[in-house]
Amino acid sequence: MNEMQHVVCPHCDAINRIPATHHGAALNCGRCHRLLFTGHPVELAAANFQRHIERSDIPVLVDFWAPWCGPCKQLGPALEKAVAATKGAVQLVKINVDQNQDLAREMRVQSIPAVYAFFQGRPVDGFLGAVPESQVKSFVDRLMRVSGHKPAGAAAADLLGQADEALSAGRLEVAEGFYHDVLAEDPHNAEALAGVLRLHVARGEVAAARELLDNLPAELANTPAITAARSAVDLAEQGPAPGSVAELEARLARDPNDHQARFDFAAALYAEGRVEQAFDQLLDIVKRSREWNDQAARKQLLKLFDALGPAHPLTISGRRRLSSLLFA
Ligand SMILES: [Zn+2]
Repeated sequence: MNEMQHVVCPHCDAINRIPATHHGAALNCGRCHRLLFTGHPVELAAANFQRHIERSDIPVLVDFWAPWCGPCKQLGPALEKAVAATKGAVQLVKINVDQNQDLAREMRVQSIPAVYAFFQGRPVDGFLGAVPESQVKSFVDRLMRVSGHKPAGAAAADLLGQADEALSAGRLEVAEGFYHDVLAEDPHNAEALAGVLRLHVARGEVAAARELLDNLPAELANTPAITAARSAVDLAEQGPAPGSVAELEARLARDPNDHQARFDFAAALYAEGRVEQAFDQLLDIVKRSREWNDQAARKQLLKLFDALGPAHPLTISGRRRLSSLLFA
């Protein structure tokens, strides 16, 4: 994206150069000194239509409508709402087809409402009829991508995806930056807070994790993301496994029914990030002696599943293996 972009004044049609990162800020037209981004659709006519379409670096949505058209009245507010959410990254223009019949014909508008999207003078997308609000929103999101902007709302999901990826790759600083970006916009984002909890765990800052967890607003405490992160904190608080992988493996070689050794072996494997092998050992205890130590192996598995999160492939396969043992 260029650092500056052109935008056509909705009041006097002057072409203004503004920073591309304007975010719909209160910028005034250099000629008429009125606001460039009013938050309202711009009513255009044949005389100034081409100038707004061709000279703006901001994607322009054109709503062809008429006062007598019922579906137009339905669509109008949904369009305004979706465009307002882009904070100036998309502009909404309205053309009254009754007053601009030649232009409507030239644009081949055969029924209304008709919505055309233009970017740098080229038509890039469009739709006919009053579509549901969700479709209007995804249409506007697509248009933002055309111009290189991140869609509103999807931005947080993108950032969270990148953060989780960085976290599981051990790039903790990178993950932290992304989580904080999300929290700066939305301090109560459960996924991002869960991410910060996992970051603390990954750094061995168990006390900080517990403190954050204890001070979360009640309405967040039971969200799936926080519940899963809480399990990770609980596990971290159990401390390191008593004994190394090699020691515990040797004990098991001597006595495969030393369930405590196997339980500790699982914890040691988990601590090394060998999650699937940890699951194997715990499942093996369930198989050998389901009731051992008040079902400790099954309970530990459930905690590990929570810590990984319900959508993790290892959680899904682990749960399947556990229930086939329990219900065999
Ligand atoms: Zn102006």
